[in-house]
Amino acid sequence: MFDRGDLRFLDLSGTPKLMDDAASQAIRPTAAAKSGGDTTVAAARAAAPTKAPTPFMAQYLEIKARNPDALLFFRMGDFYELFFEDAVEAAEILGITLTARGEHEGEPIPMAGVPFHAADGYLARLIRTGRTVAVCEQMETPAEAKKRGSKAVVARDIVRLVTPGTLTEDTLLPARQGQALVAVAFAKGGSEAALAAADVSTGRFDLVCCDTAALGDHLTALPVQEWLVTESDAECDAIASLREVISAPLAQRPDRVGRPARGETLLKETLGVAALEAYGDLTRAELSAIALLLDYILLTQAGADVRLDPPRRKTQGAALAIDPATRASLEIEQALSGERAGSLLATIDRTLTAPGARHLAARLSEPSRNQADISAQHDAVGWFVERGHLRNDVREQLKTVPDIERARTRLRLGRGGPRDLAALAAALVGADAAIAAMAEPMDGAPGILADCMQQLTLARHPTLSALAHDLSEAVVEEPPVLARDGGFIAPGWDAALDETRALRDDSRKIIAGLERAYGEETDISGLRIKYNNVLGYFIDVAARVADPLMAAPLNAKFIHRQTLAKNVRFTTEELQAMAGRISRAEDEAKGRERAIYDSFVERVNAAEANLRMSADALAVLDVASALAEWAAETDAVRPTVVDNPVVHADGLRHPVVEAALRKSGDGFTANDLHLDASGLSGPRLSLITGPNMAGKSTFLRQAALAVILAQAGCFVPARKFEFGLADRVFSRVGASDDLARGRSTFMVEMVETATILSQATERSVVILDEVGRGTSTFDGLAIAWAAVEHLHDVNGCRSLFATHYHELTDLAARLKCGANASLRAREWNGDLIFLHEVQPGPADKSYGVQVAKLAGLPRRAVARAGEILAKLEADGSGPAVLPLFAAAPEPTEPSASQTRTVEAVTESRADRLLETIDPDSLTPREALALIYELKGSEG
Ligand code: ATP
Repeated sequence: MFDRGDLRFLDLSGTPKLMDDAASQAIRPTAAAKSGGDTTVAAARAAAPTKAPTPFMAQYLEIKARNPDALLFFRMGDFYELFFEDAVEAAEILGITLTARGEHEGEPIPMAGVPFHAADGYLARLIRTGRTVAVCEQMETPAEAKKRGSKAVVARDIVRLVTPGTLTEDTLLPARQGQALVAVAFAKGGSEAALAAADVSTGRFDLVCCDTAALGDHLTALPVQEWLVTESDAECDAIASLREVISAPLAQRPDRVGRPARGETLLKETLGVAALEAYGDLTRAELSAIALLLDYILLTQAGADVRLDPPRRKTQGAALAIDPATRASLEIEQALSGERAGSLLATIDRTLTAPGARHLAARLSEPSRNQADISAQHDAVGWFVERGHLRNDVREQLKTVPDIERARTRLRLGRGGPRDLAALAAALVGADAAIAAMAEPMDGAPGILADCMQQLTLARHPTLSALAHDLSEAVVEEPPVLARDGGFIAPGWDAALDETRALRDDSRKIIAGLERAYGEETDISGLRIKYNNVLGYFIDVAARVADPLMAAPLNAKFIHRQTLAKNVRFTTEELQAMAGRISRAEDEAKGRERAIYDSFVERVNAAEANLRMSADALAVLDVASALAEWAAETDAVRPTVVDNPVVHADGLRHPVVEAALRKSGDGFTANDLHLDASGLSGPRLSLITGPNMAGKSTFLRQAALAVILAQAGCFVPARKFEFGLADRVFSRVGASDDLARGRSTFMVEMVETATILSQATERSVVILDEVGRGTSTFDGLAIAWAAVEHLHDVNGCRSLFATHYHELTDLAARLKCGANASLRAREWNGDLIFLHEVQPGPADKSYGVQVAKLAGLPRRAVARAGEILAKLEADGSGPAVLPLFAAAPEPTEPSASQTRTVEAVTESRADRLLETIDPDSLTPREALALIYELKGSEG
């Protein structure tokens, strides 16, 4: 095993400047090679090791063989170098120079390198492509290697596998997004499954045991960055279908890794407990998932001291189930574009801290089904809604609270730095200020907030208070990133450090004095004492005046060091002594700072439980006040939860569409909605018709989003919202091809509809939009018809069904608990105006041709469509071929659509006639005749 004290990665705090000289000579590129040289990528690719390699190459190949699938970052001095295929691949991805140095098997060895101090940025880019990077450090100094033998290569070892799901660095992780590494395992028989998920950057640890069919719901509720299964499970159907919805990389682990017994052992070790009874009866599938997860963490963190919180065990049925298709179509955490912007989460998120943002995301992706829990959340939000001033005060304090969770994790893993200490200090001060702001008005505060205060107060154990105080005093305001750079402990904090620094600074002053004295002594006014890494301190004079220093008597004192083209460099014994003193003082100061840093890290580790308590409480406080902020901003109301499976909403709005319209200065039209699965206080199923673009999808989605918001503990954008808890929300909105999965629009639509019809219960809320559109009219109508009947008769759930098949409006009217509603539109001066208002009863017509005109279809095509529509409607063949308005009453007078259509057709004939003439070549008589002809064509 290696000594953890030497392991540094990314932060690399205290990493000694190691340089394996022998290896570097053997393999570092020459300047010519770096600037392109004559090595081509093709030649580089061709290189492959087969003969006995040099000791250095043997070391490289041995380490590479242990991690063949990872890109190997091989530390050499101040660089991480990549060789062979790794170099070719990294050069392509990162756009860095591919070069070559040294030979293997008579071929040049391709090489590419990144400076270690800038490694984070390069790593981030590689990780984003789903690659794993093995980071190999030098484990001893060249001097230590020499002691072992004159030709010994510096010992190296892998200190960490950087994979997409095991990151801890701020530079590699989006601050406001959680990170889940998830292991999936199955019980024998395969019908029961478990998943174990960890966020290594915060210690969060979740366990879920569920039916295999529900795995997708749970998995997509997590911010999965990487997932794990055993090699044999990777082949099973359940994993195959999950691979279609989870885009994160999947790591396949050997079967033996997932043994339940190993899970038990690893869990005990990770939690530092002797027995697991306190965590309930863990199933074999859960233990197997735990084994996969913890083994992978150990493997990737190469023995670093990873701590996870005790697992939060979620049982199936505790959360509102949202399947992957529904989650995607409702754009809960991300919009269809894949971006966070435009999602429900991004729209309502007013949190001020990164842990708060992650907490809100977790809540919204898995709303609760527990009434007491939901009401408690509403209480907390409501309390802050009613107390605007207090909310502002608390939020003012939260603004300054950095990410406690990730800072403390980095410090524990030895990847932290002075900035993490400063972050903790600021967070603890912020927590104090938040307590102070809340303390007085806390009387009668709702349970969640009272708990928060209690947690924050409890966490303020004297040791934590002392730590907060000391950190604020000790760490300077803008500390450097790396502890090894020093300069982060404030003057006055540590007497010994101050003394060493004074010595160093005095010596610097003495050197300045020496410079003056030597200048006078030699009569060279341009004499300077300078410093560089190779020579240390030296005396620098212009070459043209250097001769006297190299001749007696001055050469007795001034010792020649280096002659350059324009300058000559010297030293003196006195200067050497001072330089030695400064360097010792500097080393001592840095060593002292390092010791202070280490002792702070120890104190942080000791206060871990209290820090976690503070962090959790602050996140809850942030979310409650942020949701209140959003509710106040958007006039959202507290939902009322009732026992019956109803939805009664007055003035309901779609939060995302409304926010988008607000940006463009437009208003959103609120609508009422009434559904009741029992059919007593409203329809069980409401069939929504109306023109394209009238707002049907928006109306459907806002209903589903309102239920999700309410059960996630948020207020709802409405004047009044009363509802009974839902067990599941299903949404099938809009047609989308899924060609990557080899499914056509229609197939996707049918698979999703099948899921809904087979799973929705009386307590579910279902929205279905335009089901059956992806196939021929009769088939589509038949499927939509059957789906409506099934939802109404069999599922018995609260449903909204939007359609363009007007035949269905007859059906809805006939269903015992069905009803029709439609979105209003009005024609005005030949234009179509969308009112976005929902009214009872079916739509009179679809206005499809008018919408096409609005969309900019060529005039001629619009006119032709109008012509065809008029014919179809007039001769009665329409419904058989295009059954859009079968249910609409036969008009006695020409209907508005017909009038418009005739106009459109006439226009078209006149247009065509006009197109054939050349006005300049017409005689007055011909022109008159043409006018008559045009007039005639109108009649
Ligand atoms: P289609 O049948 O073509 O799918 P649709 O009837 O489902 O159309 P939506 O997609 O819901 O129509 O809405 C179209 C646009 O109308 C939205 O993008 C939005 O800008 C606007 N809109 C929808 N509902 C409202 C509303 N209640 N108030 C204001 N604008 C709205």
